[in-house]
Amino acid sequence: MPASSRSYPLPGRRPLKVFATDPMLGDAAGNRISIAVPNEPLRPGPAGTRLEVVDYDGGSRRFYEPVDLDAPALLMQGGLDPVESDPRFHQQMVYAVASKVLENFDAALGRTFRFKGGARLRLLPHAFRGANAYYDPDLFAVLFGYFRADDEDPGPNLPGQTVFTCLSHDVIAHEVSHALVHRLRPRYLEPSNRDVLAFHEGFADVVAIFQHFSFPEILTGAIQETHARLQSANTLVSLAQQFGYATGSGQALRSALDDEADAEDPAGEKKRKRERLKRQLYETVTEPHERGSILVAAVFDAFFATYQKRIKDLIRIATGGSGVLPEGDLHPDLVGRIAKEASKTAQNVLTMSIRAFDYLPPVDVTFGDFLRALVTADTELVPDDDRGLRASMIEAFRVRGVYPDDVVSLAEESLLWENRTGEVPDLPVNLLRQELVLSARAFDRYAPGRQSDEDPTGVWARALRRWATENARALDLDPGLRVGVEGFHTVFRVSPDGQLHIELVARFVQTAPRPRGVLPLRGGTTIVASSEGKVRYAISKALPSKRLRAEARREGERRAARQARLAEESDFGDPSLAWGDARSLRRRRAHVSFAALHRAAWRTR
Ligand SMILES: [Zn+2]
Repeated sequence: MPASSRSYPLPGRRPLKVFATDPMLGDAAGNRISIAVPNEPLRPGPAGTRLEVVDYDGGSRRFYEPVDLDAPALLMQGGLDPVESDPRFHQQMVYAVASKVLENFDAALGRTFRFKGGARLRLLPHAFRGANAYYDPDLFAVLFGYFRADDEDPGPNLPGQTVFTCLSHDVIAHEVSHALVHRLRPRYLEPSNRDVLAFHEGFADVVAIFQHFSFPEILTGAIQETHARLQSANTLVSLAQQFGYATGSGQALRSALDDEADAEDPAGEKKRKRERLKRQLYETVTEPHERGSILVAAVFDAFFATYQKRIKDLIRIATGGSGVLPEGDLHPDLVGRIAKEASKTAQNVLTMSIRAFDYLPPVDVTFGDFLRALVTADTELVPDDDRGLRASMIEAFRVRGVYPDDVVSLAEESLLWENRTGEVPDLPVNLLRQELVLSARAFDRYAPGRQSDEDPTGVWARALRRWATENARALDLDPGLRVGVEGFHTVFRVSPDGQLHIELVARFVQTAPRPRGVLPLRGGTTIVASSEGKVRYAISKALPSKRLRAEARREGERRAARQARLAEESDFGDPSLAWGDARSLRRRRAHVSFAALHRAAWRTR
């Protein structure tokens, strides 16, 4: 390192230019923006600690020159300008948006997110010709396609123009989120109930959409543009539509749009009818993107309700108490303040949604589980719901007919996962202490070497397995079956009152011996323990085993029946699949492959 650079502190952030939405909006105000991502040394690619852009064009079989974001010329101007014609800008954009997603996960999870074995997620901005983009778990890569816009009906694109999926903020954020969700819950690719793949899709959309709301340029523009309707539920929904958000989950926003009528007719027959329709959606829709959009709509509703509460005083002040904004442009100060509330709320929703992961079961997730995890995680960190966000979440899920299994009511207290303190023996505390110290040391974001949830010698994993096996029944695990330790990590979080919370989260998975249909029947438990080794939560999906306590066994039987029913209803029940010939294996894979899932969905863009 030259002497001069030693005397300057390394900046924490790196500005990079991107399209805020995608090139389709072109020069529209606020579409070319600069975002600040965490700074890290980058090799040409860009290739950093957790991400690596590999620009191999599968369509024309060649590599494009990789962008060097550490080159002085680019450092001086915050990266290349957004242009569609330069592949190096494409590389910069996928890196920038993916970094932003990772940063959001880091902040919400209270630890530095690492991929398995410290691997780098590969991003291929021009992987193939085709109107698709997907995360491939086998290649551990996100593959972005490119295609010619329709000659007949290209929408706002030029006929026959090339459309790059790698230049869409939402596509990048959505696909990278799949990779992160897959790392956090690898079994969520097994569609053991209708909600599992839908959760994957819906969650990826939630990240994409709420990350977008954090760009102030876009927000202020949209708030100004739609100002007259600020009090109607429509404002930010139409904002999201303007983002060109249409992943098949465009439906999510359409259903959020319905609420404008709710606002006009808050307690009337129309609202009841709409609620009936929403509940029917959850009962009937099965395609993962469409079903996922129900989750997006619920989260979006909760966001909107909270946002409205937060800006109410601003509107009152601005209108002398009338609440009715005058015609014409809003005062820029007012727009600025409203935008601030909107982005703060969006960030709260995003953080809360990601944080819920630590309280999700390792297998067979449902939307109801997600709601319970959301409520529990948020209550743990922010006991006082003064923002009203939790209450709004519960209400938004309720109107869509999403009821968690085994809860007596949708009151906040009954949605919390059961606190199991005292029911499960403590974790081996000596080993736990070692783990905590190592995790704290590894908290340095770009520290090389050991990672917070890696266990190179396997000592901790073995100790956890022994502990879980000895206490299987208390954890709703079958004592007669092998316990797999699927992952564990330490969490460091600071609550709004400034207190540091340290917890250990570990996941155990079991597989029933006799496969039922094509998909294995799995059970498992996520534990959340204090730094003293006291298990506070054991969030379980039991197997139907006689060796378990009656309540857990009944739940296991119900789950097994649900999975068997689903297998019968869907292609999984296809008898040819049981033989596992090449053709049926391909079809089975297609069910769980994002490539297949997204082929139709992205094409709607
Ligand atoms: Zn997806």
